[in-house]
Amino acid sequence: VGFRGFDTDTHLNARMSKPNSNVTVCVRFRPLSHKERKGNDDKVCFKKLDSESFVFKDERDEDVIFSFDKVFYDDSEQSDVYNFLAMPIVTDAVNGINGTIITYGQTGAGKTYSMEGPSILHCNELKTGLVQRVVNGLFDCLRTSENITTWTVKLSMVEIYLEKVRDLLDLSKDNLQIKESKSQGIFISGATEISIMNGSDALERLSEGIANRAVGETQMNLASSRSHCLYIFSVQHGSTTDERVRIGKIILVDLAGSEKVEKTGAEGRVLDEAKMINKSLSALGNVINALTTAKPNHVPYRDSKLTRILQDSLGGSSRAALLCCCSPSSSNSPESLSTIRFGTRTKLIKTLHKLIPTEADSAKKHTPYARDQDDLPDGTP
Ligand code: ADP
Ligand code: MG
Repeated sequence: VGFRGFDTDTHLNARMSKPNSNVTVCVRFRPLSHKERKGNDDKVCFKKLDSESFVFKDERDEDVIFSFDKVFYDDSEQSDVYNFLAMPIVTDAVNGINGTIITYGQTGAGKTYSMEGPSILHCNELKTGLVQRVVNGLFDCLRTSENITTWTVKLSMVEIYLEKVRDLLDLSKDNLQIKESKSQGIFISGATEISIMNGSDALERLSEGIANRAVGETQMNLASSRSHCLYIFSVQHGSTTDERVRIGKIILVDLAGSEKVEKTGAEGRVLDEAKMINKSLSALGNVINALTTAKPNHVPYRDSKLTRILQDSLGGSSRAALLCCCSPSSSNSPESLSTIRFGTRTKLIKTLHKLIPTEADSAKKHTPYARDQDDLPDGTP
């Protein structure tokens, strides 16, 4: 039963491909903005059916039912998104299984809001975004698991802009290379890794990274909507039940805006930028297309930095969740439809791989991972 055509966006697709997929795809419609409410953009482009499906007009202006693992409407809370889409990834990461959470959508659709909340530092608990909830969830799992004896949680933050990987925790590193090793899989060579002790510690580091992102933007005169931002958490822990050290990695990706970059009149850097941004995002689309065919001969992971970094996460033994962010306004419906179609295609990925925990091969005999005294996480006995 091949669902290779991308036109058959029925709820059947999403449900049929669910049992053998490690990929969760959700759609989130943000509330109408103040501006949309005041202007003439207050017409809503979708009709809610239930918590998994909605009706949306396709390119031919015909009503089509689209279904996903979950649809979050304007009344959804940040915690709903976390609980459904991220919590299973967090639980698995503690068991050594890698996970990725990606937000996709046009600029202004709610990607960063979903990831960071309205502001990473000044935000009430209700509005706290996925990144911080993931960190808190990781520490909760580590603290409450009876078997886990020692652990280390590390954070890296990078930005991909014009196919260059920039370290957001150390701006002097502006062209990091992506490498692969047997023990680590794909990794960003030389990226700053900071050990974090608890949620509030992480918050401080995250806000430094976010502030650095803004600095770079001003220096280079670019908007954050043009770059991809990656938050990378790695968890290592030992357990009392066996002597193995497990390593789990969670990558959260706030993608560049998916809107078509206007090419007419673009010259010089603007044109380079347009091409490059399209390159990374279209490479992501191509990788997803290749993964959805029955026997992908060649998955073009190497076509962009983004897909190379995500190689382990999209095709390998890991979990992935995609949050397709959409404006609810009819004035944005062509872009929203394109985002929804991207989600439908992604849902067809069948990662048949079993989820196998990653182990630190050099540390099978649980000698606590080499680290400095001040590197010890709280909770270490
Ligand atoms: P993007 O990162 O996709 O460009 P943002 O996350 O910055 O978009 O969202 C655009 C605007 O909409 C911001 O002002 C943000 O606070 C608001 N917004 C987005 N999603 C929501 C939501 N679910 N609830 C309330 N406000 C939201
Ligand atoms: Mg954003």
